[in-house]
Amino acid sequence: MHRRGVWDDGLTLHQKPPPRGGTGGTGGKGGNASEAPCGLLYLAAPAALAAYICNMDDSLYFTDQHLQVRDMVRDVARQVIRPTARRYDLESQFPWDNVKQMADLGLLGIPWPEQLGGAGMDYLSYIIVIHELAKVDASHAITVSAHTTLGTSPIVDFGTEEQKRRFVPLLATGKVLGGFGLTEPGAGSDAGGTKTVAVDRGDHYVLNGSKIFITHAGVGEIIVATARTDPAAKKTRGITSFIVTKDTCDLAEATRVGTGHEPTLPKCPGVLTGKKEDKLGWRASDTRELVFQDAIVPRENVLGQFNGGFRHMLHTLDGGRIGLAALALGIAEGALEECLAFTATRKQFGKAVASFQGVHFALADMATEIEAAKHLVYHAAWLKQTGRPFKPEAAMAKLYASELCMRATIKAVQLHGGYGYTTEYPVERMMRDAKICEIGEGTSEIQRIVIARQLLGDLID
Ligand SMILES: Cc1cc2nc3c(=O)[nH]c(=O)nc-3n(C[C@H](O)[C@H](O)[C@H](O)COP(=O)(O)OP(=O)(O)OC[C@H]3O[C@@H](n4cnc5c(N)ncnc54)[C@H](O)[C@@H]3O)c2cc1C
Repeated sequence: MHRRGVWDDGLTLHQKPPPRGGTGGTGGKGGNASEAPCGLLYLAAPAALAAYICNMDDSLYFTDQHLQVRDMVRDVARQVIRPTARRYDLESQFPWDNVKQMADLGLLGIPWPEQLGGAGMDYLSYIIVIHELAKVDASHAITVSAHTTLGTSPIVDFGTEEQKRRFVPLLATGKVLGGFGLTEPGAGSDAGGTKTVAVDRGDHYVLNGSKIFITHAGVGEIIVATARTDPAAKKTRGITSFIVTKDTCDLAEATRVGTGHEPTLPKCPGVLTGKKEDKLGWRASDTRELVFQDAIVPRENVLGQFNGGFRHMLHTLDGGRIGLAALALGIAEGALEECLAFTATRKQFGKAVASFQGVHFALADMATEIEAAKHLVYHAAWLKQTGRPFKPEAAMAKLYASELCMRATIKAVQLHGGYGYTTEYPVERMMRDAKICEIGEGTSEIQRIVIARQLLGDLID
């Protein structure tokens, strides 16, 4: 059972004072556990620190409903996900039980209309969900983000009424998981270099090729994938999106928890999945190769404009970047919270580490950059939600938040000293989880290219 602040698997309080001997010790204040209003356990952390953590959420863009969503997700993240995140990460296991709970709460369909099985909330609510989940665990946050933005949004944005009716309710209710197959061995940043081909055979297409690093390629059942449909066309033209269906690779677990598999959904023969990638971070998230071996995809699964798949992909990634920026922001903020709790209780030279001015500087820099990232992220989300152009703002939010999250988590490990280098404290997981934020959904270099292109227009090509 989960006891407040104690890992389910019997591990120790992660905010506890350093457990081993050595020169430090925790000093007289250690051990006076108290529950702060925002749900974190502080061991005698000064009240000012607790208040500061709770007040970090600005409400510039938020209505009361947004704040309610935030509080609900925060509770789930801290009570359900936090106690299990370390185990899933260490064992590199997909968190099926937590995914089922998130599905039951409607977190896998936040921005989609209720008539399509969604929660009927707005885009800002969705970004809040990703932000809050990532403060506690990035693998859970990317599971929701990849499923929602990458797997479901292309069908909502470009699908026919029939496609939306068939596929979106399954995804929005979390009955099955979705993903997005774009990257190939020879086509990463240069996504127009797609080599997967789709050949027209009348009532169906035959796909051949392979997609790598695909989130949910294994556990998912509905994947939006791109393939070249006109080999003679210019690189970025002649690519089409397809809705590809397959069985989850984890049938036993999906059956056990009661989500992740829909037997009545017709599956496309010839869609295979590779072995799970052994990754530095996001270890509880499912990342695999997706192989099309004479895969048969019905004609009615062509998604959006024929030969317009590259444009769809750019549109999907623009939105995805805001989600990934929120995820990176969440990791950074979670790391700062850990640092505030740790440095307030860890004593050296007879004082709390937090009392040293050098530590103030590090904490102040982290908090300032987090505040800046928060404005970039929520501003980009607000632009998207209100139907305004948001491409460069999304790229800026993703670039800044992901690089900040790398800096902040490295700093967080440093502020924890040797303890931060062990798996007992979540900051080491946060540091590993941060790195991919600078790579996935367009590397930092690609974000700079997107931003520069907006500044320079035609001059750049
Ligand atoms: C955990 C994980 C999950 C992922 N999930 C998905 C998913 O769900 N769906 C999906 O389709 N993909 C997914 N990806 C793939 C991811 O989007 C790509 O890894 C990413 O876009 C970079 O492509 P690449 O790995 O081929 O690197 P490359 O494109 O080969 O880049 C290598 C380096 O060259 C740099 N570079 C490339 N071109 C330029 C340039 N023009 N100017 C300057 N520098 C440049 C890059 O910035 C990078 O530093 C995932 C990857 C990982 C690791």
